Amino acid sequence: MGNQTFTMIKPDAFADGHSGAILDMIIKAGFSIKAMKLLRITAEQAGQFYAVHKERPFYNDLCNYMSSGPIIAAVLEKENAVADFRKLIGATNPADAAEGTVRKLFAKSIEANAVHGSDSDENAHIESDFYFSKLERV
Ligand code: UDP
Ligand code: MG
Repeated sequence: MGNQTFTMIKPDAFADGHSGAILDMIIKAGFSIKAMKLLRITAEQAGQFYAVHKERPFYNDLCNYMSSGPIIAAVLEKENAVADFRKLIGATNPADAAEGTVRKLFAKSIEANAVHGSDSDENAHIESDFYFSKLERV
């Protein structure tokens, strides 16, 4: 791989009506959408997705938050996708996110931070497979 990443528009950003603006930023930054869906996950499913953070103090709150409302999950393609997408969304904590990034513009807090972005090619693959079958990708 190396050219794909996985994202979610998180419950706060979806509920606040920012999905269109965020997708517009993603497309204008040169990413193409390979798969996309609107869905709601359970706290258990969020727990599976974020299993790597199981021992962290924010884990339970994060799982409840991620299941609190609809999200949009998508697979994105671009050269250097993982790093370029992390740059587009900005730091985890919006207080530290650079001007013009998705999280600077739309995140409410370090938890409700508008979007997810994979942190490696390997995790992009694992996360995409968590949400999408082969048939659901163009
Ligand atoms: N998170 C949180 N508190 C923290 C750190 C992270 O609530 O102190 C949440 C936040 O929603 C973040 C997610 O947990 O996006 C996953 O954390 P990670 O460190 O992987 O940040 P990311 O890769 O999303 O920037
Ligand atoms: Mg992460």
